[in-house]
Amino acid sequence: MLEEHLKSVIRDIPDFPQPGIVFKDITPILKDQQLCSEIIDQLVECLQGVDIDAIAGVESRGFLFGMLLANRLDIPFIPVRKQGKLPFKTVSESYKLEYGQATIEVHEDAFAPGSKVLIHDDLLATGGTVVAASKLLEKLGADIIGYTFIISLDFLQAQGRLTRFSDRIISLVR
Ligand code: IMP
Repeated sequence: MLEEHLKSVIRDIPDFPQPGIVFKDITPILKDQQLCSEIIDQLVECLQGVDIDAIAGVESRGFLFGMLLANRLDIPFIPVRKQGKLPFKTVSESYKLEYGQATIEVHEDAFAPGSKVLIHDDLLATGGTVVAASKLLEKLGADIIGYTFIISLDFLQAQGRLTRFSDRIISLVR
């Protein structure tokens, strides 16, 4: 089963990036091209029948499978990046972190208003990142039609924060 396989490959790194945090390291997945294909197969199967115009991926690990998924679905990819990285005109959204705040940006011409956009990231923790991405994309007229994650940390109960945008929340590992 894919979930069990992924659980066996994802590496727990204690005390990274700071003491008390157990970081889920997905880089071992990237060494296995067959497993990467199975991830995309599974996401495509979960999204069957869903009308999607574009996939938005959140910097940086959301780019890895977000771009592969968009390419497989034959639809555009929208990079959502940290402040100051995108070269053209941008819109931005700031959000709170445990300590301080972060700002994410997207190019103002990244997609047409009214586009049905699915947001992808590697991991759902508190939901702060994808809530900010949802607000950011809505500023440009996106219709958020769902979320995909490789991993969701369900004990943090972020799902409720996303349902005001979409209740289509797909995670391969819980
Ligand atoms: P949230 O905003 O609290 O949901 O955190 C999710 C964001 O932080 C995503 O962009 C993840 O890439 C990153 N993140 C948080 N914890 C981890 C982890 O254990 N492994 C990989 N990424 C993480």
